[in-house]
Amino acid sequence: MFDMTRRDFAASAGLAAALGLSGRLLVSPAFAQKTPDPAKGFVTYKVGSAEVTAIYDGIWEKPHDPAFIANASVDDVKAAMVKAGFPADFVSIPFTVIVIKNGGKTVMCDSGTGGQVQPTAGKLAANMKAAGIDPASINTILISHFHPDHIFGLMEKGTNAAVYPNAEIIVSDVEYKFWTDPAVIDRLPEARKGLARRIQAVFPTWKNMRQVEGEPEVAPGIRFVSAPGHTPGHRAFHLSSGTSQLMISNDTAYVPALVVAHPEWRGAYDQDGAMAEASRRALLDRVIADKAMICGYHFPFPGAGTIRKDGAGYALTSVKA
Ligand SMILES: [Zn+2]
Repeated sequence: MFDMTRRDFAASAGLAAALGLSGRLLVSPAFAQKTPDPAKGFVTYKVGSAEVTAIYDGIWEKPHDPAFIANASVDDVKAAMVKAGFPADFVSIPFTVIVIKNGGKTVMCDSGTGGQVQPTAGKLAANMKAAGIDPASINTILISHFHPDHIFGLMEKGTNAAVYPNAEIIVSDVEYKFWTDPAVIDRLPEARKGLARRIQAVFPTWKNMRQVEGEPEVAPGIRFVSAPGHTPGHRAFHLSSGTSQLMISNDTAYVPALVVAHPEWRGAYDQDGAMAEASRRALLDRVIADKAMICGYHFPFPGAGTIRKDGAGYALTSVKA
């Protein structure tokens, strides 16, 4: 989603290491994580004959901010979090990457934070290893959009070296053109300029990134689904196998406690709020009509569930791990 505050915790980690401290003490108390990690950092389930593995990358416990939702107060946001079973004192925003094995191919959906977004995230590599997935075995990476929490896992911290040089990385042509336009930097808010500069310095040099137009099949049984608004070229991914379907919604309905329950809420991270709401409603209506499963990058881990109408909004029933 998200234009997260970059906090440099390396200095405190270095100091802690020098003092011989380790483990959770590496993170200074200000960043201490209140949400326990899942007991197991990966969950595998089937969609038809496709094998889907949800892999936990971590969480952002976002401090409340009156500007977060334009048409809801902090008290409204707190009440919505509590109603969905979460603590009131921050917004729980987990990060979950999924890896799909289908048709002889291994496909990863988005890339995690790369440990470069929040000090409480960056666990993808360790949890992927625990799941028995070799990163070198990934044939294809589908990218939903170019926000940091979805693409920084493609790039090594500091050097920007490719983490997956041998995978084909498939992106929307609209998203690619938006972020790589040199003129976009002047038009972006200050907090987004660095992101665009990093993208422009790195992605055009990669030979393994492919732009696709529209909603093609991009991997066995997986199609892009246009869901703009969050960003201009934001895409969901639709997995179909036999009679089973999974809508990988990415950030179309980012924090379900907020915008599945209240699809009309306008989040600060939706670049075009009206378009994001229209895409969100269309996607959720399609999931209901098709009796599909849904998952989302920021849904409660492991992220999969079903959707139903609930008054003026919608409700997510999470599948228990
Ligand atoms: Zn996101």
